[in-house]
Amino acid sequence: MHFYHHPALDLDLSKYGFDIPLLKSRFDKVRQYLLNKYPGDSSLIDLNNLEPYSEMELKEVHDEKFIFLLKNEPKKFVELAYEGELHSDNHMGEQLLNEMLLHSKATEWVMKKTLQQGNSFFIGGGMHHSMSFTPRGFCPVSDIVLGINSLLKAEKIESAWVIDVDAHKGDGTAQITQDDERIITLSIHMEKGWPLDSDVCPESFIPSNVDIPIGLGEENIYIKKLEEGLNYLKLNYALPDIAVVVQGADPFEGDQLESAELLKLSMNQMGERDQLVYSFFKNNSVPQCYLMAGGYGDKAHLPTIQFIDSVLGS
Ligand SMILES: [Zn+2]
Repeated sequence: MHFYHHPALDLDLSKYGFDIPLLKSRFDKVRQYLLNKYPGDSSLIDLNNLEPYSEMELKEVHDEKFIFLLKNEPKKFVELAYEGELHSDNHMGEQLLNEMLLHSKATEWVMKKTLQQGNSFFIGGGMHHSMSFTPRGFCPVSDIVLGINSLLKAEKIESAWVIDVDAHKGDGTAQITQDDERIITLSIHMEKGWPLDSDVCPESFIPSNVDIPIGLGEENIYIKKLEEGLNYLKLNYALPDIAVVVQGADPFEGDQLESAELLKLSMNQMGERDQLVYSFFKNNSVPQCYLMAGGYGDKAHLPTIQFIDSVLGS
């Protein structure tokens, strides 16, 4: 497993006035840990090699209304994405939007690295709530589907699975890929709460290929259910050319995001979760690309660090 990162890709939303608990420091802490303990196992992403997304690329995944808003009303666009008020004007909106689009392009870049050099982990990425028609849930664009779509178009892959273990359902990924048989989605998530209780967006209920809702207090069956889900995929679909793992850290009981409170996995259970997914694809010889997705508060880096030790430690 090789880790890819760049400090310029860290999202510091506080400078734009969005109050999302300590998102930037999570990336920082993971990077520092990696550089101190496993200096040879990570690389800086070459930002000069990241071309911004063209309108045509965006149109493959997002609709006309979405692109219009993105191009013409950046302030409104980022306010929809981050569910708050931008403490500034269109110019700052545009700046944040450009940061996010570059960040998304890095997701695609790491997916390509996965195919060339084997299992890869991006310190960033995983915007699974962005719908084809609207940014939402801290997810401006669907970096996941944009990246996979680019690999499909370039004929580098014929199929992909998206395994989403974030606390919140990967509803955007499910909505965008619902008619695309090349992209198979599994989401294991809180049975209730956001985004499923969001009546603004009934599309949150569009099923993934496999949905595994975990009810209140059902943490003890989480690992068994996830294992069943992975085995179901293997029985019912051909193994993919790449597995994109949306490794949200917010199911962790130490997470501080209010809307992730309905699922509280212990650190051990987080470790079991990550080992299960990692071993499953390793044993089936499927290249794995990891994205970080959700994780909030001052302990949010800990599950990721545990995973790093499990794959890099001797
Ligand atoms: Zn989440």
